[in-house]
Amino acid sequence: MANDVMQKITSLAKRRGFVFQGSEIYGGLANTWDYGPLGARMLQNIRNLWWEQFVDQSDNTYPVESGIIKSPKVWEASGHTESFADPLVECKKCHHRFRDDHVKGDKCPDCSGELTEARQFNMMFKTFVGVVEEKANTVYLRPETAQGMFVNFKNILTTERPTLPFGVAQIGKAFRNEITPGNFIFRTLEFEQMEIEYFVQPENWEESFEEWKKLMWQWLVGLGVNEKKMKWRAHKKDELSHYSKRTEDIEFEFPWGWGELYGLAYRGDFDLKNHSEKSGEDLQYEDPKTSKRFFPHVVEPTFGLNRTLLTLLVDAYSEDKERKVLKLSPKVAPYKVAVFPLVANKNDIVRKAREIHKVLSSEFAAAWDDRGNIGKRYFAQDEIGTPWCITVDHQTLEDDQVTIRDRDTAKQERVAVDKLSDWFHNKLSLFSFENGLNK
Ligand code: ATP
Repeated sequence: MANDVMQKITSLAKRRGFVFQGSEIYGGLANTWDYGPLGARMLQNIRNLWWEQFVDQSDNTYPVESGIIKSPKVWEASGHTESFADPLVECKKCHHRFRDDHVKGDKCPDCSGELTEARQFNMMFKTFVGVVEEKANTVYLRPETAQGMFVNFKNILTTERPTLPFGVAQIGKAFRNEITPGNFIFRTLEFEQMEIEYFVQPENWEESFEEWKKLMWQWLVGLGVNEKKMKWRAHKKDELSHYSKRTEDIEFEFPWGWGELYGLAYRGDFDLKNHSEKSGEDLQYEDPKTSKRFFPHVVEPTFGLNRTLLTLLVDAYSEDKERKVLKLSPKVAPYKVAVFPLVANKNDIVRKAREIHKVLSSEFAAAWDDRGNIGKRYFAQDEIGTPWCITVDHQTLEDDQVTIRDRDTAKQERVAVDKLSDWFHNKLSLFSFENGLNK
């Protein structure tokens, strides 16, 4: 059953240009995927919405874009070099990893699944700077975006002079040498994170943690994700990362079972303190009122971009006898509207439809289709989640009205061409995030 649904989604994603197998013409490379025209649009929509919600609409969040390649000292201080350097086994079922010397027997201690062979395993991708491949030149592709925020902490303090609490936000790629195959785009070698390091007074971390739980939940609901398929799961003591005192994940019920979608971690002052010690730079914050210097504590919400896309596809997919429909929120749908000339061989209808398409395209992502009959075009748009289709017909040339057809209800209405922009703005505003996420 789960396979069946995933098969359908994967094949739709490929057929319609959401997601392609990576390096496909060479037989593919495991756990790598490319995004086609529709997938690229959707990813961009999600990035834009996230930026709008968590950066633009916040008055205390500062964005950065830091490098993928950093001094290896960063990963020593963050604990990544060390904590990934042990021989590890991984459960093929639940993907939990264990130090080989911590596991008794040959079954996963958490779910009794089969374990992989032990490997000297560093999840970080290694490469070399310069021409000589030797230890002194070794660098890593970042396994998380977070450290880019911590190593720039002092720069943010000097350039922006923020007062606590404040966030530093980043969207960017991360790379992990994942040893177990992922479900479609769930677990891949490279992926994108949308992350905030939220710096707070040490005594306020719990309050902030609760606040972020709400914001993360609201964000997903705002994207149209079905709440019944979402839940929070707190990490048990023995599964907490080396830097975290409390972590909770939002899990989504994927066709193969519950899986981590996003994480929320309390990192304490682990990162700033370590970077201060190892770099010799004072990364403390000075309270402007008391002049007390201290390391702020950090609450870190992480949103995986690719898992968001997967969640949206899985959640939106539906089919009946007649058609397959992606019931995507208009906010994230690759196209908001598609414009059709009723017939492709009538010059004045095509011209009028082109005009409308051009005007709408300046405001919304608008598709164009003049192939096959109207019914087929509707179904083709349903399958990629386009919420509304506009048909320009003979009547349009006389009354300057078009037919708008709704994806979910299949209802049609006539709307005047000069009212189209307002009509769409009104419709789209119904899907805007409620109560603005950040104060
Ligand atoms: P998992 O337990 O699934 O390996 P993790 O706990 O290692 O994930 P984090 O380090 O918390 O993941 O990463 C933060 C977020 O980045 C995850 O919630 C997820 O959305 C995303 N992510 C992590 N690893 C991958 C991956 N290999 N492919 C795609 N997205 C990923």
